[in-house]
Amino acid sequence: MSEAPHLTFDLDKPGMSSGYLVVPRGADCEALSLPVFSLNKGEGPRLLITGGCHGDELEGPIVARRLVKWLPEAQTCGRIVIAPVLNPPAVKACSRNTPIDGLNLNRVFPGRRDGSVTERIADAVSHILLPCADTVFDLHSFGLNWDFPPSSTTHPIVDPDLMAKTLQMAEAFKLPMTLVWEHPGSPGMFDTLAQSQGKVFVCAEFGGGTVSFDAIAIYEAGLRNALIALGLVEGKPEYPTFRQQKVIQTLETRRSSDELKSPGRGIFEPRCSVLDEVNQGDVIGALYPMDSLTANAIDIRAPGTSIVYAIRSGAYVDADEGVALIARPLIR
Ligand SMILES: [Zn+2]
Repeated sequence: MSEAPHLTFDLDKPGMSSGYLVVPRGADCEALSLPVFSLNKGEGPRLLITGGCHGDELEGPIVARRLVKWLPEAQTCGRIVIAPVLNPPAVKACSRNTPIDGLNLNRVFPGRRDGSVTERIADAVSHILLPCADTVFDLHSFGLNWDFPPSSTTHPIVDPDLMAKTLQMAEAFKLPMTLVWEHPGSPGMFDTLAQSQGKVFVCAEFGGGTVSFDAIAIYEAGLRNALIALGLVEGKPEYPTFRQQKVIQTLETRRSSDELKSPGRGIFEPRCSVLDEVNQGDVIGALYPMDSLTANAIDIRAPGTSIVYAIRSGAYVDADEGVALIARPLIR
């Protein structure tokens, strides 16, 4: 029988306490110790904040550690558990997937106790951290080769009450975009597991992993807004400005039809910016097939009236690889 994952401290201790979530050793690596902070001010909402699920998305771990500094002063009630880095081997390698077993942590939930290291991390998070919260904020950064606006995201949820509560929580971040994102990878995602247990789960997606001063400031302001909405912190929400704009929109995107794919292999050039409104036939970007002396750039066009949510930047792409994600205002 494998060793069980466990915490080295008592989450219920009043005030601020800290210790480790121990992920037991397995055939592929030694035990891991993930730093965990508990900020316990008694009765009230129970929140879990996680970062570093993908190792190349570093804004989340930084903002999570910043929260640990000011929350003990600001928090008025409830309990907030913060795990800044869920996947230490991936963060150390600055890699989306765990370098040891090649797995994406956000596709293997609820994990396996006797599995490979990524599955053991998922098992520990599922059984030790997730049960201690009713609401989860998971801090991501979307990806290094994409441009996209600060967003709080959720996936479509079958239960209408949980969908409404989740959307309300996502909008409370007051980021430029709230996105309901139909995602084909839903089985095995942390969100899917938490939502199947009736928990409110919001993903923040912003910053690209490159960690800019502006991105961190917007990220932290969004989280503070959400903490105010939950009643854990007092204060007035701020509306972060993104590229001189103070837009707030709630959009929806369907992965199958709203992800524009590259028609071939080459360098992708964006011809519009995120948040631009486009109509059917508008050029969104162009593909340069660099292997040919004669081939011209191929235009990639919008299939219909929509808003550009995300667009590739600085990427050599393969045929059929995503180059843009478009969205439309959410119909409620
Ligand atoms: Zn991510």
